[in-house]
Amino acid sequence: MRIFVEDTFSASHYLRDYKGKCESPHGHNFKVRVEVEGEVKENGMVMDFEDLKKILKEILSLLDHKDLNSIPPFLEKNPTCEHIAEFLMQKLEEKLPSGIRLVLVMVEEKPGQGAIYERR
Ligand SMILES: [Zn+2]
Repeated sequence: MRIFVEDTFSASHYLRDYKGKCESPHGHNFKVRVEVEGEVKENGMVMDFEDLKKILKEILSLLDHKDLNSIPPFLEKNPTCEHIAEFLMQKLEEKLPSGIRLVLVMVEEKPGQGAIYERR
């Protein structure tokens, strides 16, 4: 069974080697969705939503109200939705309890525009 939680963070960024609106510094209220998979336990849950939200919030606090271009790994990597999703995937995997498999991270920089990193 899959469960999911969502949260948001606010941050500024600009894109390097890019011609267009996003080459100038600007901000987004990013929305993040995380989906994990596991067995439904005797208590009827794959994982307590509160525990998953806490893990997500801890990781998003690394990015919240930051200038993304000035923090690792975005000092060199362009802080695109795609790279943010990869970063979150990696950080979340380090924190999830055993038996819980991370399957999807979605990063939306504005409604209807974002990146999905899905494990197959
Ligand atoms: Zn942007």
